[in-house]
Amino acid sequence: MPIPLSAEGYIRCAVGSGGCPSGEGARQPPRAVVTGVGRLAMRIGSVAGVVIAVHELFLLLLAVLVWLGRGLEAAMVFLVVLLHELGHALAARTYGLRVREVELLPTGGVARLDELVELDPAVEGSIAAAGPLTNLVLVGLAALGARYRLIPAEWLDRFIQVNLALAVANLVPALPLDGGRMLRARLSARLGFRRATEAAVRWSRWLALLGLVAGAVGFYLGYMNASGMLLALFVYVGAGREEAMAGYAFIRYLVRKPLELGRHGCLVAHPLVTLDEVPVKEVVRHFVPRRYHLVVVLDRQGRLLGVATEPEVIGGLLERGLETPVGDLLGGPR
Ligand SMILES: [Zn+2]
Repeated sequence: MPIPLSAEGYIRCAVGSGGCPSGEGARQPPRAVVTGVGRLAMRIGSVAGVVIAVHELFLLLLAVLVWLGRGLEAAMVFLVVLLHELGHALAARTYGLRVREVELLPTGGVARLDELVELDPAVEGSIAAAGPLTNLVLVGLAALGARYRLIPAEWLDRFIQVNLALAVANLVPALPLDGGRMLRARLSARLGFRRATEAAVRWSRWLALLGLVAGAVGFYLGYMNASGMLLALFVYVGAGREEAMAGYAFIRYLVRKPLELGRHGCLVAHPLVTLDEVPVKEVVRHFVPRRYHLVVVLDRQGRLLGVATEPEVIGGLLERGLETPVGDLLGGPR
C-alpha cells in the first residue's frame, strides 16, 4: 500500500460571495496539490519569504475589469484577497509552519503549507479564522482612515464592501470555507479527523442544498441572488472534494500519529474497547489527536484477548491492510 510520507496542507478560500470551485489539484491528494506554482500560475514576487503567485485566469479577470473601466474594483479585489491569504500565512507562521506559497485564483485564494494543518484541531481552527479576521481588521482600519480622511470616500466604501463580502462568505460554517474548517476543527477534537470531516461534509451539503433551494425560491419570487447560489454551489462541490482528500490526509495523519508521544512526552490515555473481528480501519476512525489510544480487544463472549497499543494498530493497518481484524494484531497470547 503506497503511503505518502510528506505532510503538506493548504487553506483554500472563496472570493467574495460568489466563489466557485478552484480547479487546480483539488481532486488530488495533498502531495499533488502542493507541487509549487502550477503551469498556469505566474510568480509575481514574495512577501516575507512567501511566494506570491497569480493564476493566469485571475490576471485575465483583472484585465477584463480594467478594460471595462473597473480598474479600482480590480485593484481592490486583488489586494483584499492577497491580504486575506497572507492573514492565513501569518497565522501559520506563528505555529512555526512553513508557508510555501500563496496563489490567487479566479475563484479565490489558496495558501499552501508544508504541514497538514487539518490534523491538529487547534492549529486548523486558528489558521482558518485568521483569514476572515484579517478582513475585519482591515474594515476597522479603513473606518479609522475615513475618520481622519486619509482615504478617498469612493475607495473607502468599495474597500469595506469587498472586505466584508470576503469575511462573511468565508465564515459560513461549511467546508471548504474557513468557517467550515473552524467547524471541523471543533468536531475533530472530539470525534477525530476522519469522523469530523464526514460529519462536516454532510452538514455542508445540506447547507448548500438549502442555499440552492432558497435561491431558486427567490428566483421564482422575482428576487434573485446569484452570488448566494454560486456560493452554495461552491460549497456543495468543494465539500465533496474535501471528503475525497480526507482519505489521503487521514493516512498521513496515521503515519505521523505514533510520533505524538515522542513530541509531547506525555499524553492522556484514551481506551477503546473492540471485538476481535472488527476491521482495523474501523478502530482507527476513533483515534483523536493528542490522545494515546489503548485498544482493548475482546471476543464475543467478552473475554479479554489482549491490548494493542496505538503503534501496533497503525502498523498493522499500514502493513497488513485496512480489512485486517484487530484481533490478528495481538500476535499470540499475552
Ligand atoms: Zn480564507
